[in-house]
Amino acid sequence: MSNEIVLATRNQGKITELAELLKGTGLAVLGLDAFPGAPEVEETGETFEDNALLKARAIAAFTGITAVADDSGLAVDALSGAPGVRSARYAGEDATDATNNARLLRELSGVPLEKRTARFVCVMAAVSPSGDEVVVRGEWEGRVADQARGEGGFGYDPLFVDPVDGRHAAELPRDEKNRRSHRGAAMRALLSCWPDFWKSAKRD
Ligand code: IMP
Repeated sequence: MSNEIVLATRNQGKITELAELLKGTGLAVLGLDAFPGAPEVEETGETFEDNALLKARAIAAFTGITAVADDSGLAVDALSGAPGVRSARYAGEDATDATNNARLLRELSGVPLEKRTARFVCVMAAVSPSGDEVVVRGEWEGRVADQARGEGGFGYDPLFVDPVDGRHAAELPRDEKNRRSHRGAAMRALLSCWPDFWKSAKRD
């Protein structure tokens, strides 16, 4: 078995992040662009775990090498966990960060700050072609503000308040966001169970 793994995304930022994290393991991290014709896997699952596994399984089957996939989003308690797995398209098929944020504010209008608790969730799944699987989850607890703040980040970052110091996620420098974020936590969890997973994946 080779030392190559594929990250089931075309997002160069995610590929660079994971490659950096796995430095020292001797692994080469490829993106989907290295595999012309790779399927666009639809995120039809009801949970972040379902979607991450759907993507990792399909890409491991297509490429014949171990695939890592992630799925993430924002779960708001007052909205029964919405937007959840539908975070990217909360405002509809043509949603943008701006329209998604506007819908979130609309849905929460009149809800007081203490009831606007929420968390970002990131689930990562690694799947080998012979069916070894590992799934990890990272979470970032906070609240949804009633006004946007900050210029950094993406998605719901302008509305997400970190309880540690009250700053919005979009106000955090990138390295600080990585230390606090759901994605950083999921990546660290993946790294800690990687040696066992990889030993078993290579044995097949
Ligand atoms: P995906 O996992 O890349 O498909 O992301 C799903 C959606 O969740 C994104 O389009 C964002 O709307 C939201 N999201 C996930 N992670 C973050 C984050 O770190 N900040 C803000 N929004 C996020």
